[in-house]
Amino acid sequence: MAQLDDRLLWIGGQYVAAEGEAFFDTVNPATGEVICRVAKASANDVDKAVSAAKIGQAEWAAMSGAERGRVLTRTARLLRQYCDEVARLESLDGGKPIAETPEADVGSAADCLEFFGGQAASLQGEYQPVPGGFFYTRPEPLGICAGIGAWNYPIQIAAWKSAPALAAGNAMIFKPAELTPLTALRLAELFQEAGLPDGVFNVVQGFAETGQAMTGHPQIAKISLTGEVGTGKAVMRAAADTLKSVTLELGGKSPLIVFDDADLDNAVSAAMLGNFYTQGQICTNSTRVFLHESIKEQFIDKLVARVEKMKLGDPLDPDTDVGPLVSADHLQHVLGYLEKGKQEGGRVLVGGDRAEVPGFEKGNFVQPTVFDGLKDDMAIVREEIFGPVLSLLSFSGEKEVLQRANNTEFGLAGGVFTRDVQRAHRVADRIDAGIVWINHYNITPVEMPFGGFKQSGIGKENSRRAFEHYARLKTVYVAQGDVEAPY
Ligand code: NDP
Repeated sequence: MAQLDDRLLWIGGQYVAAEGEAFFDTVNPATGEVICRVAKASANDVDKAVSAAKIGQAEWAAMSGAERGRVLTRTARLLRQYCDEVARLESLDGGKPIAETPEADVGSAADCLEFFGGQAASLQGEYQPVPGGFFYTRPEPLGICAGIGAWNYPIQIAAWKSAPALAAGNAMIFKPAELTPLTALRLAELFQEAGLPDGVFNVVQGFAETGQAMTGHPQIAKISLTGEVGTGKAVMRAAADTLKSVTLELGGKSPLIVFDDADLDNAVSAAMLGNFYTQGQICTNSTRVFLHESIKEQFIDKLVARVEKMKLGDPLDPDTDVGPLVSADHLQHVLGYLEKGKQEGGRVLVGGDRAEVPGFEKGNFVQPTVFDGLKDDMAIVREEIFGPVLSLLSFSGEKEVLQRANNTEFGLAGGVFTRDVQRAHRVADRIDAGIVWINHYNITPVEMPFGGFKQSGIGKENSRRAFEHYARLKTVYVAQGDVEAPY
């Protein structure tokens, strides 16, 4: 028996059924129970969303930047007003602890809408005199953009993609991951309540086929994807057929380097935030923690004592630190890596297994785990696990640790803990990744550009930089004299 009513698609400012009344289930990862059925969009449904977006975008782009900004700012205010309800829905659908979702999910989405609401009136071109006249440039919306989301930060991703797109005058068709389809629909309702014209923000639901209908659609100008590296490559290949631009936020295997002069309590806090928040299902996580050999023992004592105290439980209980993984399949994926780590000779310092939570026997719980005794070439050190699994490694010199930290196909993020200001910046310069934190980890204010290097992605989200990915620049030359032709 489902807990909530069926959820339909959101197209043209209203709920509509999918073609053939197709549905899939969304499941509570803490209990294994069906939350509700969700309409599954076909390629024809994506077509309908494109038609609605075309009409909505024309109206939206004709409004001034200030007017558009006001709608986004009002949406942010509504999100904060309904924060508890939306946070609860997010925790129910994705298993994220309710101690996290009001701020890290709903709050982060509201921050982003507020930021781009404030920026919307400031998109400007340039003017320059040149021989024979002058030119000016006009930033123009791309038209219809598609956002395709991962399941780990559902409403945050929906806002991080839609806010800059809409601020710049585009329409968006958003597809949440099929595991977490609920909160994007609530965002669509709040956009409407804030005054967004119908068709400017649409939500289609479904699996990879729905995403493919978007990446292949000739009238969609841009795709912004958050997902795995393999999906990013498939999306970029598909986008090439119609020369869409792409923003790709993909996976990572990021290093956190702790030097011998670091504040160890802060470094332990950062390592825990960077491995156990949202059950470790965060792309930027510091899954390789490199400890200077002289402080390794001390660090481990502090870390293990704190990890042992983490409370697994009902994601809707405010005292819970660690909820379930997002799905039964993902649980198997993470358990597979725990086994691999042990087989390859890793030593489990804490955790290491599936966890039993009384009253939640069908939940996808895994113990927060710390591995030691690892080598750089082991699978758990090289591959993205996307679970609560922290790998400890030790080093003796700066040059050595940088070489090892950068020896990965990924380049999403990195961190360094040291009190030596010169070393901090030198190491930040040399970490080959899109985001580096000095003496902190995983903090992502909306003012800061966010995005990876190498196989971790293309483009930036957040900050004014994100605007550049949602506008095209037209150059207009104006002659001030006669046309001198040699004929
Ligand atoms: P996936 O790549 O499996 O899915 C991402 C989205 O793409 C989903 O909506 C999915 O649909 C859709 N999709 C899958 N195949 C295609 C396709 N061929 N064409 C178009 N769309 C497609 O990622 P997950 O949802 O499993 O998320 C985890 C991954 O996301 C991790 O690798 C993580 O590192 C990365 N990530 C990156 C972040 C960043 O900012 N760099 C932030 C968060 C996560 P569906 O799932 O519904 O089938």
